[in-house]
Amino acid sequence: MGGARVRTAVKRALARFRSLRIAPGVTILTYHRVGGGSPDESDLDATAFAAQVDALAGAEVVGLDEAARRLEAGDRAPCVVLTFDDGFADVYHNAWPLLRERRLPFALFLATRYVGGRMRWEGSTAKADGAALSWAQIDEFVASGLCTIGNHTHSHVPPQRLTCDELDACSAVIEQHLGMRPRHFAYPWGLSVTHLEGELRRRFRTASTGIVGRNLPGGDPMRLRRVPVRRTDPLEFFQAKLTGLLVPERAYGAIVATAKRAGARA
Ligand SMILES: [Zn+2]
Repeated sequence: MGGARVRTAVKRALARFRSLRIAPGVTILTYHRVGGGSPDESDLDATAFAAQVDALAGAEVVGLDEAARRLEAGDRAPCVVLTFDDGFADVYHNAWPLLRERRLPFALFLATRYVGGRMRWEGSTAKADGAALSWAQIDEFVASGLCTIGNHTHSHVPPQRLTCDELDACSAVIEQHLGMRPRHFAYPWGLSVTHLEGELRRRFRTASTGIVGRNLPGGDPMRLRRVPVRRTDPLEFFQAKLTGLLVPERAYGAIVATAKRAGARA
């Protein structure tokens, strides 16, 4: 739908309908890249990310384990979890200095096959070809006590090809390099799978999807909802991710879906 400028204008208009009330429960934000230099929607401008970090000063940012503990304990207090999927090196260069300075916890869902190389997998079109984090950089994240390492499969396989081997290879590589096994999982492409449901529950405390929404006690920890952060989000649209019922976010999603259907018909 339209170019970046149109997207930003639509989001700015929709953000006018945002609630100002901080929403209860756990809001999990999904990031991929920061300052990676690609035009991809998942690659944020470093200055936009810095403004978002400032905007988070009014929120309580917690780690994924603490969020899971709160949900299990029936705690509805508002909090935010920052998650970074895949393992792009630009996260180290452009997000990490701010996260470290503000002492903001975050989760990193790693597709382990690409660590130390290039991020390039089957089906990665727009997001292809960024440098991956190195183990030394990931070590630095973990040593800070701020970073929770999660499993994102070894090869970033599409959901229909997700196997126990893919899950276990990722966890084994993480254990080999960092000395601990990941307890959290994020579905590649955000798409949950049913054929491995039991295997996932046996291995992980939580699994994060790409389903837009917030998390309240009583929800399924293996179907955690998230709110994506994108390049064309103006700051007020970002702020709306933390308040109310995500009305601007859902309205935008509906507009994009309608535009895609219209495009498919054309
Ligand atoms: Zn991914």
